[in-house]
Amino acid sequence: MQDTNKLPEGLERELLIVLMEECAEVQQQVSKILRFGALVTGPDNQRTNAELLAAEVGDLSHMIQRCIEIGLFTAEDIATAAEAKRTKLNRYLRHK
Ligand SMILES: [Mg+2]
Repeated sequence: MQDTNKLPEGLERELLIVLMEECAEVQQQVSKILRFGALVTGPDNQRTNAELLAAEVGDLSHMIQRCIEIGLFTAEDIATAAEAKRTKLNRYLRHK
């Protein structure tokens, strides 16, 4: 049977793994803020949880850029999705 849906390998696979890891690190840092607060310093006793979240979002942003660079998706795809999210969020956010 011919495999018509070729699974990612090489650089694409590696970038997707790191992208996934960075998503998890963002989730973890959001959890720290919800548990302990945004202005409390993290384990390094230097940066606040908000600053640590910014660092993880920066890591994630870089991985998204790398996915664009290999042609997995485009910046336009992201802009379109972001605008759709803005519209949906404005409709459903309980706190405005
Ligand atoms: Mg990270």
